[in-house]
Amino acid sequence: ERLKVDDIRDRFLHFFESKGHLILPSFPLIPKNDKSLLLINSGMAPLKPYFTGQETPPSKRVTTCQKCIRTPDIERVGKTARHGTFFEMLGNFSFGDYFKKEAIPWAWEFVTQVLGLPVDRLWVSIYEQDDEAFDIWHNDVGLPEERIVRMGKEDNFWEIGVGPCGPCSELYFDRGEDKGCGKPDCGVGCECDRFVEFWNLVFTQFYRNEDGTYDKLEHPNIDTGMGLERMAVIMQGVDSIFEIDTIGAILDYVAEIAGVSYGSDDKNDMSLRVITDHARSAAFMAGDGILPSNEGRGYVMRRLIRRAIRHGRLLGIRDPFLYRVTDQVIEHFKGAYPELAQRRDFILRVINMEEERFDQTLDQGMLRLEEIIERMRAQGINTLNGEDAFKLYDTYGFPLDLTQEILSERGMKIDTDGFEKQMQAQKERARAARKQTNYMGSDEDIYAELPDDVISVFTGYDRLEDDGVV
Ligand code: ATP
Ligand code: MG
Ligand code: MG
Ligand code: MG
Repeated sequence: ERLKVDDIRDRFLHFFESKGHLILPSFPLIPKNDKSLLLINSGMAPLKPYFTGQETPPSKRVTTCQKCIRTPDIERVGKTARHGTFFEMLGNFSFGDYFKKEAIPWAWEFVTQVLGLPVDRLWVSIYEQDDEAFDIWHNDVGLPEERIVRMGKEDNFWEIGVGPCGPCSELYFDRGEDKGCGKPDCGVGCECDRFVEFWNLVFTQFYRNEDGTYDKLEHPNIDTGMGLERMAVIMQGVDSIFEIDTIGAILDYVAEIAGVSYGSDDKNDMSLRVITDHARSAAFMAGDGILPSNEGRGYVMRRLIRRAIRHGRLLGIRDPFLYRVTDQVIEHFKGAYPELAQRRDFILRVINMEEERFDQTLDQGMLRLEEIIERMRAQGINTLNGEDAFKLYDTYGFPLDLTQEILSERGMKIDTDGFEKQMQAQKERARAARKQTNYMGSDEDIYAELPDDVISVFTGYDRLEDDGVV
């Protein structure tokens, strides 16, 4: 059945509602009272206080579709079929209520009965020491032993720093041999896109302390995460998350602006995917009140936007375009995330301003970098020195990873330590001078240009203070 993204989301939430779960809306991308995390990266992250008992949940069973950002995955975006920096994670959660005996069969019921996935294409992994999970999969669910793969701590023990953690069990869908890498040992857990991991069931039995020790939780919890985009890939039988109904429409729009067609040139395709993905992240970040800046999550956002703009240039787009793509993101996701429609003006302005700001220096910066590359080639040098990399950052607003990406396309790299040294020196100078003097300037000034009515959308919005930008 060719289910749309919206249908899959609905079916998931209502399936778990029928199992006694309370549907909660997605939490914002900015973590609340959580210094360990820059951006929400899983359905479980904003629920931590319920898992630890710090706060009482509105129900012992909760289900959500959570906006997530994972910039550590940025290198894989556009290269694998299954990674985005932004994605939606569906989840069902038990706060000291039900455990493995319910969670595993329900996952199976949802996937095989509600979605109707063919049983013989499904595989699962479990933590090597988790015999309890094995027994449930094998005896209760009836999955043959050879499709239950035992994996080590690295893969099947879930933890994100301090907090609740435990063994997990993941569900995989075999997309068929033609999607695989063809290596003889290709199977569940292979980096290629044949066996797609789509759901992670975490059996939260422990709490990891600051010092790395574990405590057993009095009441074990369930925390699961299913990638909505990945499930859509499976249900829609397409090649990658960039071809599912929602994201595909945004990508098509980018292709239209660029005047290229998807699937006819590998380099262009890569740029289309990067822009599409980063526009999604940027739109949702702005929608939650994050502004581009030189620090923290604001800098994450700035890097994503600038990288997207540069890929726009690679496609031959000269004019500001990213805010238009962002508008498409809003169009396709405002149904599920009404805040996007409510804050549309704000989102578009933030993206547009950042775009105009970077447009002014991008071309000059590129010229400068081309000169440097020429010079390096002539001298047989392969590593860009820290001073030049820093100058590109400081004068032309090139984030380090942007310069890095451009150089790696030429088989070159950067002396990142040298860059860091320059950065430190700059910070000390700035501290001494008690004011910021670099090109990117102070963000208070830039966004002071935003009209009051736009800003006022966010006054009384406590999370905004975390950014220190308004
Ligand atoms: P992978 O191994 O493919 O990187 P993961 O093991 O890091 O995935 P989890 O942390 O287990 O992912 O997150 C739960 C689910 O969220 C995954 O099973 C997947 O469906 C989805 N997911 C994780 N990362 C991404 C991403 N970058 N883009 C889209 N979906 C993702
Ligand atoms: Mg991952
Ligand atoms: Mg994984
Ligand atoms: Mg996983």
